[in-house]
Amino acid sequence: MKEQKIVLIPMCKIDETTLSEIKNHIEKVYSLEVKVDFLEKNLNYIKKNQYLTEQILQEVQKSKIQDNEKWILIVDIDVYHNSNPVLGLAYPHCGISVVSTKKLKQGFYNLTENEKLFLERLKKMVIHELGHLFYLDDCHTKECVMQCSTPIDEKESFLCRSCKKFLEYRLKGYKYSLLLYTLWHA
Ligand SMILES: [Zn+2]
Ligand SMILES: [Zn+2]
Repeated sequence: MKEQKIVLIPMCKIDETTLSEIKNHIEKVYSLEVKVDFLEKNLNYIKKNQYLTEQILQEVQKSKIQDNEKWILIVDIDVYHNSNPVLGLAYPHCGISVVSTKKLKQGFYNLTENEKLFLERLKKMVIHELGHLFYLDDCHTKECVMQCSTPIDEKESFLCRSCKKFLEYRLKGYKYSLLLYTLWHA
C-alpha cells in the first residue's frame, strides 16, 4: 500500500497558530505526515452562505489526483447533507472530508468567543472526520473522538484504544474487516 498522507486545506480565514495546532494534533493522533494546502483556485466558489457537502465535494474532487491522500477541508459556511445541517462530513471512497467552523464558535450561540474552546472543538471535528476517511465508524466509547452522541465538549480529541487499534490495522494495509472491528468494539 502506498504511504498515506493527510492534507489539511483551510478554505476560510484561520490564524497561523490555530492552523499549526491543528496540524500538530493530527500528526500526533495519526502519526502521518500532514501537509497544509490552500487550494486557492477553489476559494471563489465557496462564497455563498451555505453549501451542500456534495457540491463542495464535486468541486474539489477535480483537484485531487493522489489517491493516497486524505483531504480535510475547513470551511466557515453552513454545510448541509440531505437538507440537514451538519458540522462535518466524510467521503471515504474519495478520501475527502469537510468540517465547518461556523457552529464551533461561541459567537454563533450569542456567547462570548472562546478561542481555546473553539480550537478544542475544531481538533475533535477534524480528527473525527479524518477517522471516517480511514474507515473508522462512529464509536460506542463515551469519551472517544469517534463517538457521535456525546456532546462535543464532553469527548476527548483522541481515538480510544479500539479505534486506534483499528487505525493501525488499516495503515498496515489490511482490508476493512467489519468482524474484527465489531470485536474490538465489543
Ligand atoms: Zn461520524
Ligand atoms: Zn473509539
